Amino acid sequence: MIDLSNLEAWFVTGSQHLYGPETLKKVEQHATEVARGLGASLEMPIRIVAKPVMTSSESIYQLCQAADSSKNCIGVITWMHTFSPSRMWIAGLKSLRKPLLHLHTQFNDELPWSTIDMDFMNLNQSAHGDREFGFIGARMRLKRKVVVGHWKDADVHSEIGAWMRAACAWHDAQHLKVARFGDNMRNVAVTEGNKVNAQIDLGYTVNGYGVGDLGQCVQQVTEAEINKFTADYDDAYAVVESLRKGGGKRQSLLEAAKIEIGLRHFLEETGSQAFTDTFEDLHGLAQLPGIAVQRLMADGYGFGAEGDWKTAALVRAVKVMSHGLKGGASFMEDYTYHLKDGAQVLGAHMLEVCPSITNEKPSAEIHPLSIGGKADPVRLVFTAASGKGVNASVVDMGNRFRLIVNQVNVIQPQHPLPKLPVARAVWIPEPNLKVAATAWIHAGGAHHTVLSCALTPEHLENFAEMAGMECLLINAETTIASFVKELRWNDMYHHLANGF
Ligand code: MN
Repeated sequence: MIDLSNLEAWFVTGSQHLYGPETLKKVEQHATEVARGLGASLEMPIRIVAKPVMTSSESIYQLCQAADSSKNCIGVITWMHTFSPSRMWIAGLKSLRKPLLHLHTQFNDELPWSTIDMDFMNLNQSAHGDREFGFIGARMRLKRKVVVGHWKDADVHSEIGAWMRAACAWHDAQHLKVARFGDNMRNVAVTEGNKVNAQIDLGYTVNGYGVGDLGQCVQQVTEAEINKFTADYDDAYAVVESLRKGGGKRQSLLEAAKIEIGLRHFLEETGSQAFTDTFEDLHGLAQLPGIAVQRLMADGYGFGAEGDWKTAALVRAVKVMSHGLKGGASFMEDYTYHLKDGAQVLGAHMLEVCPSITNEKPSAEIHPLSIGGKADPVRLVFTAASGKGVNASVVDMGNRFRLIVNQVNVIQPQHPLPKLPVARAVWIPEPNLKVAATAWIHAGGAHHTVLSCALTPEHLENFAEMAGMECLLINAETTIASFVKELRWNDMYHHLANGF
């Protein structure tokens, strides 16, 4: 359901006619080689396509128009191999709506000390050519990423790769549909927000549906479909005795499968790649969807519980960004603490944690749910794998969306949790729980988050830059004094930058 195979980033090299055809031919050769070299790096999630060397305002404008109207182009990477007077770039960059990465590199990594002459100097001018391009980016206040280093360096590959992943998620967000079954959990503030602003600023649309419509879809599920899905369950998970064939609660597993199939049909029919539900509004459903939501997330769907459409869209974005990487991504909630031994967070939810974050074979279990007043729901239970990761939250500040990213270290629980009937992750936030939670609370970060050990803060920072979204990072360097000042400065910046 996430397919990046048709997507591409365009590699555009700038020059001018001043140097004559011989030099331009060399520039073209070098540009093709650089694009090919970058494209061959395993850090790149998608193709890099080299475009002709740009030498005029007209061709640059046409290229930017073509990038904007291309269905597959997720963004443009620019490099000024020679000097390319940047007034030529104004018309194009003014119209460009796709993400921009300015690569400041040089074809050669070493100076040819004994042979360097003026021809070499005229060809290899990015040291000043890219500064001219940098000026116009700054002068036009362009949202962009700047990557500096030799094009064969691993850090350059990883920085470009992170940007490409963020750009794929941004591309996806521009036609993402979030389906909502029911409204937000009553009286909750942080899961609310302005859907019109979200569509204007972030691209995705949020559409409400009656949960009864979903219920009807579930009722139409055939027995053959249910048999196929429950066979999958039996195969993929350690199914507890009572849910197995002949077990006393097998009927609940069939019901859970029926909900999953109905939900899949509904999402496919409406073209939605993310969704929300709420335990307060389950009319027509026998159980709160548990295993259904978990398996849909594992397939790449975004999800937010209790009507949380902002987190559903963020889960989807993180799913796209982390596609093909080890580590997974899940909807998450800071649930409860262990305030000793380095102060740890136990993250979980009522049911809906994605099995992509574990290396274990999940067990399929059934337990009562103390809220919602429905039948006991079937869920997958497991513990998240250890690793360095990010925990991210998006909130609506009224005049803007704010993304809060905390670097965390997911660890193994010190003790077994034999009575805990839900999937869980245990982590220590950076720099520590005291500072991280203080900063998080000052920033108004939600209890609902996305947890991923596949991503680094760089991916999310790049995504926020593309979206023009405020991004706050809480990591090993965070101090409360400077974090609180950053909040005040950002308030002022966004107030001024938004204008009317
Ligand atoms: Mn919740």
